[in-house]
Amino acid sequence: MVKEIIICDACPVLCRIRPGRNGACDRYANLDGVLTRLDPVLVTQRIAETDGKLVPFGATDWDGSLISGATTFVTGVGSGTTYPDYKPAPFIVASQYDGVDMVTVVSEAIFSYCGLKVKIDTDRFIGPETAAVRIGGEQIGHVTTAEYGSQMLSLGGVRHLTGGSKSEGRATCDSMLALCNGEAVEATIDGGATVILQAGAAPIIDGAEETRMRVGCGSATIGIFARQWHGHADEVIVVDDHITGVLSEHQAGQFLAMKKAGIRVRGRKSTPGRYFQVAEPGTGWGGTAVTDPLTIIEKIDPKFAWPGLRLLMVSTTGEDAAYFVLDENLKPIPAAMPDALQTVVDRIGENCEPALTTVLFMAGAGGSLRAGVTENPVRLTRSVSAALTRVSCGGAPVYIWPGGGITLMVDVTTMPENSFGYVPTPALVAPIEFTLRADDYGAMGGHLDAVRPIEDIVENGRIKAVRWHERAPWPGAPL
Ligand code: SF4
Repeated sequence: MVKEIIICDACPVLCRIRPGRNGACDRYANLDGVLTRLDPVLVTQRIAETDGKLVPFGATDWDGSLISGATTFVTGVGSGTTYPDYKPAPFIVASQYDGVDMVTVVSEAIFSYCGLKVKIDTDRFIGPETAAVRIGGEQIGHVTTAEYGSQMLSLGGVRHLTGGSKSEGRATCDSMLALCNGEAVEATIDGGATVILQAGAAPIIDGAEETRMRVGCGSATIGIFARQWHGHADEVIVVDDHITGVLSEHQAGQFLAMKKAGIRVRGRKSTPGRYFQVAEPGTGWGGTAVTDPLTIIEKIDPKFAWPGLRLLMVSTTGEDAAYFVLDENLKPIPAAMPDALQTVVDRIGENCEPALTTVLFMAGAGGSLRAGVTENPVRLTRSVSAALTRVSCGGAPVYIWPGGGITLMVDVTTMPENSFGYVPTPALVAPIEFTLRADDYGAMGGHLDAVRPIEDIVENGRIKAVRWHERAPWPGAPL
């Protein structure tokens, strides 16, 4: 009946929810006429430091029951939103840490301004910088500046969420939600590869799983292994899309007093033994399109080269390597790799770290969200910049950008599983907690009337305990 319908005011969609039904985001339901947040509130626990050991959350049969006597932190997961923001956050929790009275303001924030920075440990070409990244044909982001040994994507953001078509916004929101919650997502890059991305897992590029993150650029690889090659090869060329290294010309080769070998690689010489643009980028050797390494040799100068010259060509991961000896016409002839060189090639591989995909959630905890913390929101911003207030997401530590606002980044793998939700505006929903000393909270104009002791929340709410990320600082401690 119409009068039993509840209007959910937890986001601007204002769902009209019939009895026994869920709202559009599946986070709220009309249970017996009461608007109810469906998921339990997650708390994270550990044995107090004075006990000298941590709660064994790694046990696979642990069912999420509260552990009596453990130190507890209430996360924003399952807490509900502050929206429309004239009211205090869902939980404002009083607790103690080492005898210090603390307050944690807990809520789930609706982030229209949010995106992902995705780091893909590979030197393979995935697409040109600024190329569109698409899901189901919709652009959800772009390729951004490559980092050392990694390709980078910038996904989501307010323009793709709100500035394009409805389907672009939906594709952006869905794919960000999946990536934040640890699911695999397949994306295509204009003029580049098809990639399967999953936080904490190896990237899959055009169907091939990447296993090794390169040891360094070609020049760095020369520097690291020059001494180990010396005496076993007359020239070593480390093929790399960015900086290809040539040992005898390189400063490392000079230090070893290596003889000039006269093998000139293609591309633009930057400094001695360091060459840019030796080939087109691709999925071949060292992030180039090269499958036959000899194609990057422009010429072999008879004034310097000699018959019998021993040449090793290798990629920056050691996955590709070939050994040649120059014949009497100074033509490189493939030969069996000597053991001493094979050992160093293997060592390049050994020095590569496992290739992973890293997903950082980035968002602005701005505007009205802060009104759930204090009646004078700029004081929260100032308190965060002054390092008086600790910000966490699901108990996980965040990086706060310097400058204005509260712009944060968090590694999604450090947050509890399925921390993220969405609303169809579209926007992502993520947990956020602000923790500070109780006296600082009072001084900033906090909602003191809404503060509840942690025991009240834990004993009277629908609570589930989750594993505390042991590498992280305790979120309830003062900064
Ligand atoms: S979509 Fe918004 S209004 Fe609808 S149930 Fe979810 S939070 Fe409430």
